[in-house]
Amino acid sequence: MPNSLIVDNLHKVTEAIHAAADSVGRKANEIRLVAVTKGQPVEKVHLAIEAGIKNIGENYVEESIPKIESVGKGSRVEWHMIGHVQSRKARKVCENFDWVQSIDSLRLAKRLDRFAGELDVQIPVLLECNVSGEESKFGLAAWNELEWNELAGEIAPILDLGNLQVKGLMTMPPFFADPNHARPYFIRLRKLSDYLASQFPNHDWHELSMGMSADFEVAIQEGATIVRIGTAILGPR
Ligand SMILES: *Cc1c(COP(=O)(O)O)cnc(C)c1O
Repeated sequence: MPNSLIVDNLHKVTEAIHAAADSVGRKANEIRLVAVTKGQPVEKVHLAIEAGIKNIGENYVEESIPKIESVGKGSRVEWHMIGHVQSRKARKVCENFDWVQSIDSLRLAKRLDRFAGELDVQIPVLLECNVSGEESKFGLAAWNELEWNELAGEIAPILDLGNLQVKGLMTMPPFFADPNHARPYFIRLRKLSDYLASQFPNHDWHELSMGMSADFEVAIQEGATIVRIGTAILGPR
């Protein structure tokens, strides 16, 4: 794929982000675009950065490390882990990523906190929530609003970990051909964020990472502050 195609795609996605924000009276500059490069070769990562991408999301530790090394640590790019992290890979994640969006258990959070401490870094993180109840999805069980009280009890010890800075929530709704059908799940995540902000007012809940290529405009209308977009920018995997 020539670079001009990525530039064009990025332009279209940026315009769509602006239009979606405008449609609900939000500002596009409060929305962070994370380009998802999983399944894409390292050349495309470089092309995306040349096109102006500042945040990159990857799902798999093994796949991402050569890309991160190729781009180089001194670059102006922030790397976001967005996939499920196995506990035994927690150290590598702390060594290589700037953000972890996919905290889905206290056990993982504790391990990341320990390695972050050893590396003397503070890692911004999001709590991944399963708001649909789909078994194939990772994330803290958050689909039943009647159980949010319990969920808050599970989250409390994560908030106490000194080397992780919880900044908000992340989710992946079920896939629908019509993105409007994902809307109730985005609304649920935002409601959960409001609930957690009421339970833990001294913590930061402002980030909502939701919306991918197929549904980011709907997610922005429902409050997304981070969208994670792969194919719409980089083409098919
Ligand atoms: C792959 C992936 C994305 C991007 O998906 P696209 O449909 O290519 O935009 C976003 N978030 C997560 C967690 C992913 O695994």
